[in-house]
Amino acid sequence: MVAALSPPALAIEATGLRKTYGRHEAVKGIDLRIGRGELVGFLGPNGAGKTTTIRMLAGLLRPTVGSASILGHDVQRDPLNAKARMGYVPDTPNLYGKLRGHEFLRFMGRLYRVPPAVAEQRAAELLRLFELANAAGDLVEGYSHGMQQKLALAGALLHDPQVLFLDEPTVGLDPRSARRIKDVLVQLRDRGATVFLSTHILEIAERLCDRLVIVDKGQVVATGTMAELRAQGSSQGGAEGSASLEDIFLQLTGGADYAELAAVLR
Ligand code: ATP
Repeated sequence: MVAALSPPALAIEATGLRKTYGRHEAVKGIDLRIGRGELVGFLGPNGAGKTTTIRMLAGLLRPTVGSASILGHDVQRDPLNAKARMGYVPDTPNLYGKLRGHEFLRFMGRLYRVPPAVAEQRAAELLRLFELANAAGDLVEGYSHGMQQKLALAGALLHDPQVLFLDEPTVGLDPRSARRIKDVLVQLRDRGATVFLSTHILEIAERLCDRLVIVDKGQVVATGTMAELRAQGSSQGGAEGSASLEDIFLQLTGGADYAELAAVLR
C-alpha cells in the first residue's frame, strides 16, 4: 500500500537567500521557516531588504544565492506550482489602467486558470468585500490609490492562494479601508492561509501578527512572537518586559540613539 503523502508543514521556507545589486549586497543570507496558517509581519528600517526578500520569495526576483519554496515547491525550479499556490500584492500596484475593475479580475482569473464561472462568482464576492462593487465597471485608471490597492488584493485572492505576500498593504489607505484589509488578512489566516506582510506600521505588526521577523541591513536580527521579542529585548539590556514594539525595534535596528538626535537638533 502506498502511504498518503503528508502535506508540507512549511508554507514558506527560505535558505540562505542573498541578493546583490552591482556591488551592493541588499540581502545577506536570510533563512525563514514560516508554518501554515501563520500571519507574519516583516519589519525593518528603510532599505533593510524587505521588498527584495519578498520579491525573491514570490519568485519575481532571482536570488544571487539561496533558495525559497512555497508549500514545498521551489520558486525557481518549480515556479508554476509555487506561483499557483501564492498571491502577491506589491507596495505600489501597477495595474493596467485601461481595464475596468471587473475586467482586471477576469484577467487574473484567466492567468491563474480559475474556471470562468468560479472566477465570476469570486470576483463578485471580492468586489463586494472590498466595497468596490459600484466601481467595478469603471476604468482602473480612474481609481484612487486606495481603490487600486484593494483591487490588487482582490486580484491576488481570486485563485484562493494558500500563501499571500503583501508589501506594505495599508500605505495610503483611509482607516476604514485599512481596517477592511486587516480584517480580511485575519480571516484568511483563520481559514488556514499563510500571510507574510511587510509593514512600517508597528501597531499592525503588534496587534495583527502572530510572529514577527525583524531585518536590518539585509539580515534577520530577531524573530518571534511579541512576548519572545520582549524577552530578547530585556535580556539584551533593553527595557523590561513591558517594552513596546517600537522600543524593541529601535533597539534591534540601532535607531534609538536619542543622544545623537538631540545633538543634531540642538
Ligand atoms: P523600504 O522600507 O524603504 O521599502 P526595503 O526594506 O523594502 O526598504 P529594499 O527595497 O529591498 O528595502 O532595498 C534594499 C536595498 O537594495 C536598498 O539599499 C536599495 O537601495 C537596494 N535596491 C533595491 N532594489 C534595487 C535595484 N533594483 N537596483 C539596485 N539597488 C536596489
